[in-house]
Amino acid sequence: GGLYNIARWGEPYFTVNQDGHLCVNTHGDQRESGQEIDVLHVIQAAKDSVQFPMILRFPGLLKHHLDSLHTAFDNAIKNTGYMARYQGVFPVKVNQNKAIIQDFVHFGHGYNYGLEAGSKPELLIAMSCLTKANSKAFLVCNGYKDAEYVALALSARAMGLNAIIVMEMEEELDIIIDQSNKLGVDPVVGVRAKLLTKIPGHFGSTAGKHGKFGLPAKKIYEVANRLRHLEKLQWLKLLHFHIGSMIPSTEIVSKAATEAADIYCTLVNEYGARMDTLDCGGGLGVDYDGTRSGSDMSVAYGLEEYASSIVQAVRVKCEDNGVDHPVLCTESGRAMVSHHSMIILEALSAIPEPKDDEETTPEELQAMIDDLSSKKWLKGDDDAAVAKPMSSHAAEIKEHGIEIYKVAKKLAKSVMAKETTIYNYHMNLSIFSLVPDCWGIQQLFPMMPVSRLHERPTNMATLIDLTCDSDGKVEKFIRGAQTLPLHPLDPKLGGYYVAVLLSGAYQEALSSKHNLFGGPSIVRVDESGGIVTADLGATTEELISTMRYDVNQDILDVIHERAEEHGVWKMVGEIVKAGLTTMPYLIEYQVPLPGTA
Ligand code: PLP
Repeated sequence: GGLYNIARWGEPYFTVNQDGHLCVNTHGDQRESGQEIDVLHVIQAAKDSVQFPMILRFPGLLKHHLDSLHTAFDNAIKNTGYMARYQGVFPVKVNQNKAIIQDFVHFGHGYNYGLEAGSKPELLIAMSCLTKANSKAFLVCNGYKDAEYVALALSARAMGLNAIIVMEMEEELDIIIDQSNKLGVDPVVGVRAKLLTKIPGHFGSTAGKHGKFGLPAKKIYEVANRLRHLEKLQWLKLLHFHIGSMIPSTEIVSKAATEAADIYCTLVNEYGARMDTLDCGGGLGVDYDGTRSGSDMSVAYGLEEYASSIVQAVRVKCEDNGVDHPVLCTESGRAMVSHHSMIILEALSAIPEPKDDEETTPEELQAMIDDLSSKKWLKGDDDAAVAKPMSSHAAEIKEHGIEIYKVAKKLAKSVMAKETTIYNYHMNLSIFSLVPDCWGIQQLFPMMPVSRLHERPTNMATLIDLTCDSDGKVEKFIRGAQTLPLHPLDPKLGGYYVAVLLSGAYQEALSSKHNLFGGPSIVRVDESGGIVTADLGATTEELISTMRYDVNQDILDVIHERAEEHGVWKMVGEIVKAGLTTMPYLIEYQVPLPGTA
């Protein structure tokens, strides 16, 4: 397992057992060995009734993360002498699946753990999942709002849920006032601050002066003034911010919390708002590659450091201003759910990549290099050429730049080709549908085979999916690798499966229907490795109907008529009906597997 860096990104949840199988430890405590769940055994038990690709869910890991989050904040609160509590919410958008939301409500009950909704459908999910027993839990209503959204949030309050309407825009206040009058329900209002603190890189675009969401401090104070004039200032209770996902360092966490706490204190001291909660949004990161580097795929801190940065920053700012410590809320999503599920892909075949450069001999390469360096402008000894502004060389640079790149690539390949052939592993998946972030934002997830982990994987592999797009290929892996070491396929050893780990956040909701490959099967695994429930993914029929076809009228009837004309409806009807009721992935792959041992 060392090859895959599992000890770094997997600690303490994922290990390799004596049989060389990937294991899950839902207690997050490796001392309890013997209690690990053997992933291959779960797959073998599931595969007779469930199709690939499948997601294995380990609800025990959700509970462990939730407990760890609360322990981290409780310790930070105790250690710094903070005088208020922590009370978090799960942002529904990060994984809306019913089982997950219900798990969080259930596991979070004793913590008054709540939910965050960013749209009307999410609000409806949250309203129905939170129960009377969760009347203290926050139901944070974020996102742009119309009258219907605000009315829903007020209904939630009228039903005894602790719904808070967080304003993203000034204009929303008019809607809130209007709906509140209409329905006779007093709202609890929060405001989302647009902070100046920004995070660098891909995930940072939601914050900063030009960020898309929230109100700058000045506008927040105007809202407070307006509420005061309306004698509704008592509505305003919460200040919220979210500077983006994957905050890379605790310096930025502290900076953002300090900036927000400053606005909070001003609202209390200068505007007389009776605030009580500071909601620090999401952004708690996941160390996908195990490097703790603070790159796009990694964060340089753990849960404890994150919690103490927030608690400490808010405490200092409030004490400086003589303001009571607010209840601290966070909307951590990614860090709560990433670990708890893994996607299991099935290898269909492994085919050596044709070596298109084989005919390039070292002599030919040398000749190409000589030819390039003989070009005058490249030598830099032609005064006129050097004196010419760069722009006038653009065409040459472009032309030769590509040549240089090609030669360099050939060189690199000819060195590599001596030892390695790259194998294209065809996998039963659609990258767009299952791991859209791999394709959309070049997200890297740790990947590894689930078995044969004591055997040296001799093939350098890339993963190819079932779609016919050139993008349907994974050829970037964690820590900058361009291939994933995999074992030669051997049907005698049974199926060969690759797990995509830390993939529990965002992927399912983002997943598209490209090529009309739908979602995966979902298998829920209990603490002892038993299968609790198994849901099949969307059938072909369901996927087709999402594109506005009436399956009976537009598909079956039409095919029926045509088949009748040829007298083959009996045969065709059976095949078509069977095809409509299964998942669109490959079920039985009977082509002999090329590239097997
Ligand atoms: N809160 C809000 C308002 C968000 O927009 C998001 C994600 O985009 C989150 C919370 C969750 O963030 P994360 O998954 O980084 O914790």
